[in-house]
Amino acid sequence: KAKSEGRSTYHFFETGMDAELQQRRSIEAGLRMAMQREELRLMYQPLLGLENNRVTCVEALLRWDHDERTIPPNEFVPVAEDTGLIVPIGEWVLHEACRAAASWPNGVRVAVNLSPVQFRQKDLVGQVRSALAEARLEPTRLELEITESLLLTDSEATIAALHELRGMGVRICMDDFGTGYSSLSYLRSFPFDKIKIDRSFMADLTSRDDSRAIIKAVIGLGQSLGMVTTAEGVETEEQLSLVRDFGVSEVQGFLFSPPLQSSTLANLLHSEAVKTQAKQKAS
Ligand code: C2E
Ligand code: MG
Ligand code: MG
Ligand code: MG
Repeated sequence: KAKSEGRSTYHFFETGMDAELQQRRSIEAGLRMAMQREELRLMYQPLLGLENNRVTCVEALLRWDHDERTIPPNEFVPVAEDTGLIVPIGEWVLHEACRAAASWPNGVRVAVNLSPVQFRQKDLVGQVRSALAEARLEPTRLELEITESLLLTDSEATIAALHELRGMGVRICMDDFGTGYSSLSYLRSFPFDKIKIDRSFMADLTSRDDSRAIIKAVIGLGQSLGMVTTAEGVETEEQLSLVRDFGVSEVQGFLFSPPLQSSTLANLLHSEAVKTQAKQKAS
């Protein structure tokens, strides 16, 4: 359907009337106002550590409430990247996520997604520093998630920034591992603290032997490189028990928890902390 339409609307595209282009323009226009109108917010998805069944980390996920609907990041982050708007938006995300994390129990870290575009500006490291300082958050409680596409460019400045952040105590995680090109070579370009195995492998874990073999191998690889491994997109008990057997460090997915409103997440962390204190007193 899309293909044949693509041909016939070719001249519309040229005159700027293409539906997709128009949608992009309207997203762009709306996005320029989104920050001052306070239409952006973060949802928080907890990750479960399998060693002690506790929340190890919480990923901040961006949402845009606009025109009576909530727009998911996959629809507007690409536009924000093309227009450079991801730079101020990303800075807001860093500050907001660090502020939230400062009120959580000490053992829980916050994970923030970074776009490659944020690395192209000079002062990403300074922005991270000031977000941490403003929130009075220990750098060791911040994880930054980057994707393989960042390392495609492999610029020296990017690698230097990653080393500087890591030197401060911030953890650097490779997100969506296995979806880019020649993933394995990226593991040599930087000493990541964590590998998050893309959820597409999890989706057909129980139906495809090859996905199972790949997940098992990546978990083993992570272990031998001294990296934490995370299985993304765990939705069923069956998936959980498989990745647990393979020795994965932590799981993220709808089975344990979907992304939550910040107050719901804070309640969850608080009740978990109370339970642990009670257990310690009893023993
Ligand atoms: P991601 O970093 O890989 O985040 C995980 C995505 O998987 C989230 O989608 C989350 O809601 C979804 N997810 C979690 N568990 C499950 C599950 O069990 N099943 C399924 N089907 N999905 C699950 P979301 O929130 O729509 O975010 C999509 C992507 O947008 C993120 O992928 C990330 O790449 C990007 N993103 C989100 N927030 C930000 C941000 O603040 N800055 C930047 N630059 N990108 C962001
Ligand atoms: Mg992520
Ligand atoms: Mg991911
Ligand atoms: Mg993803």
